[in-house]
Amino acid sequence: MLLEIKDVHVHYGKIEALKGISLEVDEGEIVSLIGANGAGKTTTLRMISGIRSVTSGSVVFEGKDITRLAGHKRVIAGIGQSPEGRGCFPGMTVHENLLMGAYTRKDDLAKDLDEVYELFPRLAERRTQATGTMSGGEQQMVAIGRALMTKPKMLLLDEPSMGLAPMLIAQIFSIIQEINRRGTTVLLIEQNAQQALQISNRAYVLETGSITKTAPASQLLNDPDVQKAYLGGDLTH
Ligand code: ATP
Repeated sequence: MLLEIKDVHVHYGKIEALKGISLEVDEGEIVSLIGANGAGKTTTLRMISGIRSVTSGSVVFEGKDITRLAGHKRVIAGIGQSPEGRGCFPGMTVHENLLMGAYTRKDDLAKDLDEVYELFPRLAERRTQATGTMSGGEQQMVAIGRALMTKPKMLLLDEPSMGLAPMLIAQIFSIIQEINRRGTTVLLIEQNAQQALQISNRAYVLETGSITKTAPASQLLNDPDVQKAYLGGDLTH
């Protein structure tokens, strides 16, 4: 088991955003977490990356309890995050943003930079452009590329398809699959449940701070409740 979350509660003041969630991700998997607005998806990712502390429960990564470990140490441990809203440095070039992702590393970056540019040829073309002047989809690529530069064992992705045109969405999802094929485990949060489930091994459904369902992704794609709530009705007809 790469990541194991046990009975985690997270509060914002008196609001209980996560009401005792448990989930597991195995090495090599793509797991997605689907749920409506405000269900607690972003809170779950922030809890895993250490931006949000837990009220109770535990987070175990590669067998080590990281529940109280600081966020930057989790990056070193192998948890990379591409945050919601992208979070690029707008005044920096694409290349500088990618290097920022590697600031905790002391080893040779050239090979990993080449790999990011190979995954995202668009970024290679624009490596000297200020990131703030790039399109939403391109900034999303920079954010994912920057997270990859931390050399994560596990990549956390918060709504990578948000605000993108359908063609770009398909492209981003196929790049996520390629990243996974090359050995990185992926935990994906998406409102675009259809596409997320199509590339995932398994998924969890989160409703108002609780996990209400977990199953292989193919099973959830055919689950009438999931279809009704997250897939816009029965798409097979
Ligand atoms: P979305 O898809 O809309 O981003 P989400 O599933 O990611 O939603 P979260 O952002 O995790 O949901 O929010 C879960 C709950 O916690 C919501 O009710 C939200 O209003 C609340 N919440 C999130 N951040 C804060 C905060 N900083 N202060 C108070 N409440 C918060």
